[in-house]
Amino acid sequence: MSILRAIQAVRAVQKRLDVEPLFTPQTEWTFQAVPDDTTCPVCMSKDLNIYYGDELQQKFPYLVVESNWVIRPMVHPNCRCMLMRKV
Ligand SMILES: [Zn+2]
Repeated sequence: MSILRAIQAVRAVQKRLDVEPLFTPQTEWTFQAVPDDTTCPVCMSKDLNIYYGDELQQKFPYLVVESNWVIRPMVHPNCRCMLMRKV
């Protein structure tokens, strides 16, 4: 596959994902804690868990959508964890 073809293929996937709604069972999200001294055990216990889009709003009622690729679950105030969308 030429580089141009590869770029076109990637763009096609991105375009499809950009128009897809976030909160559907077809989207998968990986929970990423920020491990350091101040990380709470609740967040650490969720690290690398996979969630489906249709579970998110129920499991993380305070979530903040940053972009089509990143959601902040806001497990607690000042939570630094992120949900990264799987491609
Ligand atoms: Zn957290």
